[in-house]
Amino acid sequence: MCQDTCHVIRDHEENKEAFAGPRFFIRLAELDMHPLDQLDRKRDAQEEHGLGMCNITKCCTAVCPEHIKITDNAIIPMKERVVDEKYDPLVWLGRTIGRRKAD
Ligand code: SF4
Repeated sequence: MCQDTCHVIRDHEENKEAFAGPRFFIRLAELDMHPLDQLDRKRDAQEEHGLGMCNITKCCTAVCPEHIKITDNAIIPMKERVVDEKYDPLVWLGRTIGRRKAD
């Protein structure tokens, strides 16, 4: 239901290739936040699955028959994680230092 109601793909056929949709974002968030999962899925979510195209209208949350808070508990936290990794100066510094040590 969330996939069908999301206007990003419902109203724009051309977005279907670039936008995975709420069902897949909740799965990506579930994996990214799991303490035993080692893969970093933030870059994929943003660059491969079009996370940035979601404009947080919460239509997917409104129609969920299981009352899963898709937007609040998956999409927004994933967006925050993407932004933290990409623009947080401390994260950038840590990555840069780590990269230098590896060289
Ligand atoms: S919150 Fe995002 S994923 Fe959910 S319906 Fe709106 S645009 Fe689509």
